[in-house]
Amino acid sequence: MEADTTIPPMKTTIRDQDFFSTSIEPMLFEGREAELCAWLKDIGFIQRSNKCKTPSCNGHEMSWKKARIIDKYHWVCPLCKKKASIRLGSFLEDIQCSVRSAIEAILGWCEGVSVDGLQNDGKIKSSIVKRIYSQCSNVVDWYILKHPEISILGGENSVVIIDIFPDGCMTMTPHNNNYTKQVLCVADTLYMPPRIWTHILEPGESKDHSKLIPLLLSHIRPGSTLVVTPQLFPELRNAKDMAEVISIEALMALDHDDYQRSLKNLETIWASTVSVCQEIQDMSGSDGGQLLRELQWRTIFQSRIKSIFMHIVEYQAHMRS
Ligand SMILES: [Zn+2]
Repeated sequence: MEADTTIPPMKTTIRDQDFFSTSIEPMLFEGREAELCAWLKDIGFIQRSNKCKTPSCNGHEMSWKKARIIDKYHWVCPLCKKKASIRLGSFLEDIQCSVRSAIEAILGWCEGVSVDGLQNDGKIKSSIVKRIYSQCSNVVDWYILKHPEISILGGENSVVIIDIFPDGCMTMTPHNNNYTKQVLCVADTLYMPPRIWTHILEPGESKDHSKLIPLLLSHIRPGSTLVVTPQLFPELRNAKDMAEVISIEALMALDHDDYQRSLKNLETIWASTVSVCQEIQDMSGSDGGQLLRELQWRTIFQSRIKSIFMHIVEYQAHMRS
């Protein structure tokens, strides 16, 4: 997917800031590349070992050696002296910039810095930043799809809000009906920010919302309290195993001030989801779905810097196996 998208910038959390300032930041200075590479090797971001591919070497272990090249290190076979890049089989394999610049671009992606905003003194080309951003996006998309349990929301003590963009109660700003994609949006308010799960409606589902119910309920745990958009309330009011099912319309029974406050709360809960639902209107369905899953990842993994490195490592291990 193209990386030129605008997920709303999200500030690094304090925990993430700690991880950044103690683990990564000290290694991003000129002359600390060796430490940076050693750390990347330690966490498995670049391969921890490498076997020689020369047939007569029978897969002999290559050695990690200092080198006068941009990466500062390379692999060398002690038998045939063949060299190999430390980037082999890693996220950085086809990235044409220094390891440090690539790591800075990954950090920029975590922070939601735009591609143009990350032109750090021309040390890295925007085409390379775009490539790194889209690789990050592909990794988190893979992660979300690989772990379907994180797309199941609610449970006892959870209030789960269910709405459909753009016709529901997600924003008080009037819209112009030019939206071709409707999006089923679910938010679990037990978390801060609320965890979301979304689904772009198929044409049949847009015409007949009852077709959404089995899929929707498969993403909500029993015991949840559901707060439901008027469009889906008739279909959900008798949903089994839920603590309670309330229509957002019930909020209208409140007096005017409370009603406005409730809508304001909903608008706050949905702000970043609405922004991405607008963003995906001109995208293909698969790119739109990917951007929504990226938003989901960003709301779940508050320690984004730590998480992206862990998930890249998991992704690479999966690709190699
Ligand atoms: Zn060899």
